[in-house]
Formats: sequence, C-alpha cells, structure tokens
Amino acid sequence: MKIHAITLILSLLAAVSCQNSNNSTEERLSEQLDSTQLLTNEVLVEDITPATRINFLPIDYDTSKWTELIRLDSTILLDLRYATDSNFVGEKMYDCGRCFLRPRVAHTLVKVHQQLKKQGLGLKMYDCYRPRPIQWKLWEKVPDRRYVSDPRKGSMHNRGAAVDLTIVDSTGQELPMGTPYDYFGIEAYPAYQDLAADVLANRALLHEQMKAVGFKPIRTEWWHFSLPGQGAELSDMLWKCY
Ligand SMILES: [Zn+2]
Repeated sequence: MKIHAITLILSLLAAVSCQNSNNSTEERLSEQLDSTQLLTNEVLVEDITPATRINFLPIDYDTSKWTELIRLDSTILLDLRYATDSNFVGEKMYDCGRCFLRPRVAHTLVKVHQQLKKQGLGLKMYDCYRPRPIQWKLWEKVPDRRYVSDPRKGSMHNRGAAVDLTIVDSTGQELPMGTPYDYFGIEAYPAYQDLAADVLANRALLHEQMKAVGFKPIRTEWWHFSLPGQGAELSDMLWKCY
C-alpha cells in the first residue's frame, strides 16, 4: 500500500506540474512532501482523506479574493451536491467539489463550526460559492425563479457570500432537520412549526449560531444563509480539478 500512496502523491505532483508551470510551486510542494511523515509512516491510500489531500494541492486561486474553506478547518465536512447527481436537477454540475468563499465569509463561518464543536457537533456544507457559468447551466435546465436565481442578476452564492449547510454530530451524521436539502415546500421554511421537537431544536440551533455571527437566513430554506458585506461581486471564477 505504501507504493500506492507514493503513486498517488506522484500523480498529484504530475497533475500540479501540468496545471502550473511555476517551478517554485513545485519546489514548495516537494519540500512539503519531504517534510511530511506520510512516506515514512506507510500511511494507506485509504487514509488520505479529502481533508488530508488538500494539503498536497497548490494554492491555485487568488487568496486576496477567495478562501478554500477546509484549509481553515479541515474538520468541516463537505457534501457538495452539485458535484454529484444527488441534487434537484439530478445531474452533476461541478467537475469536482471544492468549497470556496470570500475570505471574510469563510473566517466567519469557521467561528460557527468551532462553537458547535464545543457541543460535539459540526458543520457540513452542501454548497458554497457557485460560479456564474454553473448558474447559467442550472438556469438553462430550470428557468424558474422560484428554484434558480436568474444568472443575469446572480445570487449571493455567485458572489461567494452564501452557504447551504447543516449540522452533523460527532460521527458525521446529519441532525434531523425535517426535510432533505433542496426540498421545495413549505416544510423547508424556517418559520414552519409543525415539526417534531428535536427538528425544531436543531433548526433553532443552526439559525441561532449563524445569526450570532451575522449570517442572514431566507424565508424558504432552512439550509441557506448569506453574509452581507463588501468585496462580494458576482464572479465567473471556476476552480481547478485534479
Ligand atoms: Zn443556498
């Protein structure tokens, strides 16, 4: 398995060198690899989780404009549904799942996660920044403003200032929230009260924690919050996949 681990790392490096001709990035990565214990500890490929893998990928975006959330806290779970076909359009919309947010949004969100961790809980992300070219693809499939924002106007997701998320327990299991993600119906409204007591308490916890640091909810989706503020213009930035 050690050989597999090395092969994976070499292929990651190869991918990086294809994507980026900047030698200093490659050198930095090599130094990073040399300094890790990964090669000496015979870590199995299966142990290289997405959160660990991120440490081997280059900073391949403009850090003055974007933060990749799990680089701030690798214990935040990602379940980016638009990188799978498990979403309301039933098709994979992102080539791969990476969670980018405006830096102030990412740093504020990490505060929520760290608060929840004190209770043995944490955050799981369903969606983060959504590139406007993807918004166009969604709009072409579902040109209905009730479900998809018109890309000409854009949404807070297209600005990197909105998140779709839920709370998980210490084993990564989602807390019951009453409806699945992207359920379009009154039962998903935060004000809807005809739900079990634990569901109401879980929704209240999510909303209280998010609102405490400045995030705003919306009327129709318990999972959606945005953080108003500067430096969040509409964006067409597409992240790289390896
Ligand atoms: Zn949303």
